[in-house]
Amino acid sequence: MQAESYFQLLNPFVFLLFAAGFFAVNAVRPSRAILLLALSYLCGAAAFTADILEYAGILRLGTTGLSILYGATAVLTSAGVVCLYRRTAPWKLFALAFVLHVSLSSWSFLAFGLGWKSSIVANFCSGVVLSLGLVFIRNHLPRTIDKVAFWAYCLCCAQCFIRPVLMAHFAGGAFLSDNFDQTIFVMALHFVVGACAVTTGMALLVACSTEIIEDFRRNSVTDRLSGVYNRRGFEDVSEAALRGCKANEFVAIILADIDHFKAVNDTKGHTFGDMVIAELGALFTQYSDHKRIAGRIGGEEFAMLVVGEPLHEVKDLAEALRRDFSELRIDTAETEGGCAFTASFGVALLQPGEGLLSVIARADEALYLSKNLGRNRVSCETDVQVDKLRSAAGAHHRRKYRDGAAAVG
Ligand code: GH3
Ligand code: MG
Ligand code: MG
Repeated sequence: MQAESYFQLLNPFVFLLFAAGFFAVNAVRPSRAILLLALSYLCGAAAFTADILEYAGILRLGTTGLSILYGATAVLTSAGVVCLYRRTAPWKLFALAFVLHVSLSSWSFLAFGLGWKSSIVANFCSGVVLSLGLVFIRNHLPRTIDKVAFWAYCLCCAQCFIRPVLMAHFAGGAFLSDNFDQTIFVMALHFVVGACAVTTGMALLVACSTEIIEDFRRNSVTDRLSGVYNRRGFEDVSEAALRGCKANEFVAIILADIDHFKAVNDTKGHTFGDMVIAELGALFTQYSDHKRIAGRIGGEEFAMLVVGEPLHEVKDLAEALRRDFSELRIDTAETEGGCAFTASFGVALLQPGEGLLSVIARADEALYLSKNLGRNRVSCETDVQVDKLRSAAGAHHRRKYRDGAAAVG
């Protein structure tokens, strides 16, 4: 084996490193796409190693064996990339592409022997198979990192066409098996494969890893039972929304608490109680959007931060939530036609300079009023003021009456 050949071992080493990286990511979150990419890099490492050993006369895999390894690398990479962005891949097309890749490159080695012609055919086959991935994912790149991965992958495809042509042109089509790995030029072109594998591999690994991190983050702020934000998520996202609000923009809070929920748990069981919570969560989700942030902030208590709507509209929204929830029928084995439930609501408007927790506390007062007034209703903080004035007036009236009666007595 020539000394220069050892430099070529860098390619299999790079492929092996990325295979290990993808296998590690797959161990954290198993996915077909990541497994396919891990296998493609492993196959690539095997193909490059076999290629070098074949030229050095150490291994006798034959040109068909090499074609199978390179064909499998291209198909696994392409299918992995498609699965990553489309969840599923056109498997029949990839099976056909693999058969064509292996047949064409094996035939070219038989027809032309080792040299620039067979090198062009084999590399073009890989380029076409890899480009299939590009066609399928081009409109499915939501994030910047996905676009970076796409362009890195484009580079990978392009080098399959450019590299063998350059090699044939500058080497005058004269390289043979005994001088193949001796020219710096040919070695440099060889390293292009490694460089493309590193760029694409890095971009794809980062794309996979950021998706996993985003998933973890989403899970840590989402309530599994109801599907809306949990308390932490609700507070974080609401605080961020408040920071993004204009100074004169309306911001309101709706709070909801299911009525007599302890009795639901006691009579129908905790699992059924969970179903009721999930139904109210689904309603909150249905009415939420980027300006209406919904969260489960307690056991059977939900909140919605509403940005950009005046108090009367927010009250209408709370009324719609209340009505829809009271009209729901949740099936049980014993109750024909399902059971009905109600919830009480409180609404408060954020005052200038006020914080999230303070407006939640005032909405809670309004909710408490709804409970006191008989439940299954919506109260605003203005109703709380009216109620306080009424109570004060009542107390005053009673005192006057008592004092008057005492004076008469
Ligand atoms: P009120 O009309 O005054 O609200 O009466 P209530 O019985 O609903 O009283 P409260 O709001 O204090 O009851 C909360 C109950 O919610 C107590 C607890 O057992 C139940 N709970 C809290 N979290 C969960 C949960 O995740 N699942 C179920 N099934 N029940 C829960
Ligand atoms: Mg409660
Ligand atoms: Mg309750």
